[in-house]
Amino acid sequence: MSTPIISIKGLRKSFANQEVLKDINLQVDRGQVVALIGPSGSGKSTLLRCINLLTIPDGGQITVGDQSLTFQGAHTRLPSERKLANFRASAGMVFQHFNLFPHMTALQNVMEGPVTVLRRPKKEAEALARDLLKKVGLLDRADYFPDKLSGGQKQRVAIARALAMQPAVMLFDEATSALDPELVGEVLNVIKGLARDGMTMILVTHEIGFAKEVADQVVFMRDGVVAESGPPEVVIGNPQNEATRAFLARFN
Ligand code: ADP
Ligand code: MG
Repeated sequence: MSTPIISIKGLRKSFANQEVLKDINLQVDRGQVVALIGPSGSGKSTLLRCINLLTIPDGGQITVGDQSLTFQGAHTRLPSERKLANFRASAGMVFQHFNLFPHMTALQNVMEGPVTVLRRPKKEAEALARDLLKKVGLLDRADYFPDKLSGGQKQRVAIARALAMQPAVMLFDEATSALDPELVGEVLNVIKGLARDGMTMILVTHEIGFAKEVADQVVFMRDGVVAESGPPEVVIGNPQNEATRAFLARFN
C-alpha cells in the first residue's frame, strides 16, 4: 500500500456564519492526479487554499509530505513563521488569473522565488528557470514581460514559476478558465506532461473531458462536502450520486 503524500482529515472552514468546508477527508497518493469538480460556491477554491494555508482552516489536519498541521479553531497554536513558510512551499499553486509580477520578465518571474525565498545563487536560479521555461515551451519568451505574452503563455510561465520552488505537489485552481478557448489546449498539454513526469496534482477544473483523461481520482464537491469520489470511469462515467449526475449533465 502506498502512503499518501497529501492527507486531509476532518477539514472544516467557516466564513462568518457560513460553513464552507464541512469535514473534508481526502487522500492523494504520490504521483496521483486528482480532479476536483463541483458547482460554483461548493468550496473547491477554499479547499485548495487551505492546503497551502492561504486560508487557515478552523479544524482538522493537513499533511503534505512529511509535514503535518492540526487546527483546533481558536485553540489552534500556529507554528512558527518559518514552519508555515516551509509548509506553504511544499505545495505550488497556479491560479485562474496567473498573478505574474507585471514588472518582471518571464525569466525573472520564474527566478524570483528561488532567489528571494530559497536564497539560491542567481546563476543557479537562472539555469533552473531556463530549464523550466523550456519545459513549458517558452524558452524563446524568457525576456518578454507578461503584457507581451498571450494568456496561455502567461499561465505556462505561472506553472514554471510554481515548479521553480520544487514543491512536493501542485495545486491548480481553474488554470484554464480565464483563457480564450484556443489557448486552453497548450496549458492542458503542460499539465499532462507534468502528470507523465509523476507530479502529484490536484486540479480544480471544469474541463470534464480532460479530468476523465488525466485524473486517477475524481472528487465531486457540493455544499462543502465531498459528495462522491472515485476513479473517473465511475464518478464521471457512471456517477452514483444524483447530484453528481445533475452537475455533469450540464456539460453534455
Ligand atoms: P468554489 O471554488 O467551489 O466556487 P469557494 O471555495 O470559492 O467555492 O467558495 C465557497 C463559499 O465560500 C462561497 O459561498 C464563497 O462566497 C465563500 N467564501 C470563499 N472565500 C471567502 C472569504 N474570503 N470570505 C467570505 N466568504 C468566502
Ligand atoms: Mg473557485
